[in-house]
Amino acid sequence: MTVDTSSSSDSKHKPTASALVIGGGVAGMQAALDIAAQGYKVYLVEKTSSIGGRMAAIDKTFPTLDCSACILTPKLSEVSRHPNIEILTYSEVKGVTGKTGDFKVKVYRKARYVHEDRCSGCGDCAAECPVEVPNYFDEYIGFRKAIYMPFPQATPAVYTIDMETCIECKRCAKVCERDAIDYEMQDSEVELNVGAIVVATGYKLFDVSEYPRLGYTKYDNVINAMEYERLINAAGPTHGHLIRLSDGKMPKNIGFVQCVGARDVNKGVPYCSRVCCMYGIKNAVMAKEHDPDIDVSIYYADIRAFGKGFEEFYNMAKTRFEVNFVRGRVAEVVEDPKTRDLIVRVEDTETGEFKEVRHDLLILSPGIQPPEGMSEMAENIGIDVNEDGYISVEHALTAPVDTKIPGIYVCGCADGPKDIPDSVAAGSAAAMRATIVLSKEGKE
Ligand SMILES: Cc1cc2nc3c(=O)[nH]c(=O)nc-3n(C[C@H](O)[C@H](O)[C@H](O)COP(=O)(O)OP(=O)(O)OC[C@H]3O[C@@H](n4cnc5c(N)ncnc54)[C@H](O)[C@@H]3O)c2cc1C
Repeated sequence: MTVDTSSSSDSKHKPTASALVIGGGVAGMQAALDIAAQGYKVYLVEKTSSIGGRMAAIDKTFPTLDCSACILTPKLSEVSRHPNIEILTYSEVKGVTGKTGDFKVKVYRKARYVHEDRCSGCGDCAAECPVEVPNYFDEYIGFRKAIYMPFPQATPAVYTIDMETCIECKRCAKVCERDAIDYEMQDSEVELNVGAIVVATGYKLFDVSEYPRLGYTKYDNVINAMEYERLINAAGPTHGHLIRLSDGKMPKNIGFVQCVGARDVNKGVPYCSRVCCMYGIKNAVMAKEHDPDIDVSIYYADIRAFGKGFEEFYNMAKTRFEVNFVRGRVAEVVEDPKTRDLIVRVEDTETGEFKEVRHDLLILSPGIQPPEGMSEMAENIGIDVNEDGYISVEHALTAPVDTKIPGIYVCGCADGPKDIPDSVAAGSAAAMRATIVLSKEGKE
């Protein structure tokens, strides 16, 4: 990458009145909408086949228990219908050159083997496809076809062929009335000229199997919180039926283990992931809403309920929903081979008592980490990552969305863990900073 870090405001250069947003989660969508609303063209580059990010997979949101899809879906259509926004899915930024106000961006576009302008999203192709593979969007619990849309509200509403699993029977092509399927489609590269860039590449979950003592992957009834989000989601693989993966039975006694891969120097995640306490409490409340007779316990180190309405939500979980909060780190989980129940060994640090508690389902709440490929992407753009691997900001207090390059901004979880409201606020802030650069066009 060869980005000139001098600002266009102190040169004769005139900025280009379009922007690039990298990452189509809720933060990137907000940034794109706010830039577009001010009349600038926005290219929204997303590496998967749909925008929406993690919020699209979450069931309800804390602390209000609003349906996540009900809030996100109107935003997805607003982005897709906005005349100033061009969505480039299945795409990644491979390099940036130029200077503030005049960046040249190389975008690599993976072939989706379906023409976006012809596909109506009718689904005839998927109905005909004989290949079923686990769906990444459902955390590999549910299945999709080799030609797929990851979820019903996927945006753009266009199918994609996963060539790694496609057997090339071409039955999809035969039933497609719009002739949208193209097996000869090639990957391609486009070059964009933009004045400002917003990075909104989000996060990945900590891999909880890094704690073998907690039994994830060893025992079917130990799952992670994102898998749980899909299980309790009416649009998920079990249509919202909360079941144990070992036998399909409804659980009656659930345990949630907090801080798995957060605040642990030994695992390279010394920081707090900020959202796990609240999504853990939310998930416990959701279990009670599904069946008030379920016993629910949360094993936690501290409860960090710092946001608006969060403390009240925590108190409601204790009093109205009778969630049992146990302060203590879980030492070990073992399975009863007969029942497939889990026996949790834990020290209650409030009473000093060592306990063995039986649960029929155990959910591990993973911390958050920078997404795969974050440092390569940062290098391609010419910005820095910090010691935790997130995008470095110029000043945490006074320039929280600025990177070291004027004209390149960051928002959402790309610079550290955040909840949805904070990600959206950062998206708007980054958009504001970007439009300051764009608005200088013609005024120098
Ligand atoms: C289990 C769980 C439950 C949660 N529940 C809640 C809740 O109830 N309420 C709440 O407020 N918060 C909740 N959160 C947090 C919430 O998920 C985040 O606040 C939110 O998703 C952050 O949005 P984002 O846009 O920054 O990132 P993301 O949602 O991660 O979106 C980033 C997007 O960027 C794309 N991307 C990544 N790298 C690249 C690249 N190199 N090029 C192009 N695109 C790229 C990704 O594919 C993705 O689409 C929860 C988190 C978890 C783990």
